[in-house]
Amino acid sequence: MDREDVMKSMKRALLAALALGLSIPLRAQNLGVSDALLRQELAPIMSGAAGLAQKVSAQAVPPGKDRDAAQLPDAFQRLIKFQNSHEAVAARVTVYRTGYEKISGKAGRETGDWAVVLDVDDTVLDHQQYQINTEFRFNPDTWNQWVMEARAPSVAGAKEFLDKVRRLRGAHVVFITDRDDAQKAATVQNLMRNGLFGPADKVLTKAGKDDTKEVRRQCVEKATDARCAADAPMPILGFFGDSLRDFIELHDVDLTPERTEALRQDPRWGESWFVIVNPLYGQWERGYK
Ligand SMILES: [Mg+2]
Repeated sequence: MDREDVMKSMKRALLAALALGLSIPLRAQNLGVSDALLRQELAPIMSGAAGLAQKVSAQAVPPGKDRDAAQLPDAFQRLIKFQNSHEAVAARVTVYRTGYEKISGKAGRETGDWAVVLDVDDTVLDHQQYQINTEFRFNPDTWNQWVMEARAPSVAGAKEFLDKVRRLRGAHVVFITDRDDAQKAATVQNLMRNGLFGPADKVLTKAGKDDTKEVRRQCVEKATDARCAADAPMPILGFFGDSLRDFIELHDVDLTPERTEALRQDPRWGESWFVIVNPLYGQWERGYK
């Protein structure tokens, strides 16, 4: 079934469901049966329609094909234009260059190994094309398809930063991402295609619900976790991310005005915490829940 057929079937099913729904009181009255009984008729039709809708979403764009941002509603087009503006690109380069200056200064005072930790998605790999292809509708199936294609471009400034930081004595680059273990090979492939992955770099994917980014930061700093046991415990001199969770554990936290203010005043911003602003999506949309 191609996309057009799916769309037609879905439309027919939705129209049937709508017509049936509207006629329930009338039919119930005429037939002398309960509304509940007639509503049972709706269930298989609605579930079929939902299944078809999911299929359309998952097939939104064939592998390797992209939608044009000009097809998006105006508000989304403005976001994409901003993401590609000179100002936004320069802001990312500024963050990475500032980060390098701070980290290289601190690295000069380290006697042993140390690490920088970077998030992957929309910190070093740019996924605006995925947002365009799906019209900003995240779906695990389309996301997995996109991840497996491993063709996301780099975020501006990331390659220059990584190339320079790897040349510093004692440096280790660790990517901590909430992509899962099954997506690890494609993640490395995508990073390599963009020249973002060095032979000694490490990618720590999410092994399960409790394997939060904080657990994996501890993995680097304490080296007690089997995934990090081959390395010595290392201080992390810099963190790069597009979400607060790339810096601190933040799950179901009530962000009171006091806590919000403390977070904004945190001295680690610009010292060891470096944020790539992401206006396209994020936990900020859901209040970090
Ligand atoms: Mg991210």
